[in-house]
Amino acid sequence: MMANAPLRMEFLTGYACWLPPEQWCGTRFAARRMFFEGHFETHCNRHMVCNACGLPTLTLQIESDYCSACDWEDDFSEDPYADEISKMNGGVSLNQARRNILEKGTMFCDTDRNWMHPTSFEKIFSRRAQAHRDKLFQLFDELMTYTDAADVDRQWATIDEHWRTA
Ligand SMILES: [Zn+2]
Repeated sequence: MMANAPLRMEFLTGYACWLPPEQWCGTRFAARRMFFEGHFETHCNRHMVCNACGLPTLTLQIESDYCSACDWEDDFSEDPYADEISKMNGGVSLNQARRNILEKGTMFCDTDRNWMHPTSFEKIFSRRAQAHRDKLFQLFDELMTYTDAADVDRQWATIDEHWRTA
């Protein structure tokens, strides 16, 4: 890596691996994020890992990169400031988004009904959308169990296909 590369590049290339604060130790979120950050070269299919859900979903656009699993917009929020409100994410903190994601697979939650357009809310919380998210998280959890490169490739093809049918 070039010595004069911006600091953020270290995050973008997965060099700086995250360690979970105590409140996240032992959660599915921490397991996912640690696994994918530690397997950037082999398991992430050139995606960066989302700070909120821990899945490799970000496509390296520097500005305005939305997670295609949990909808968190990457605003570079990070521990230990994860309880601060994220303006780019509708006034939700990163930690609140993480709690919502562990419950429903999306950074949004039931009380977002109060401000969200009913159509948007229904789109996110319909039974079909919930099932689609559950399946996506399941596919990524399975991906973590594969060690063979061919199995990883096959699982990514399945994940891409699943994304397309959203
Ligand atoms: Zn995410």
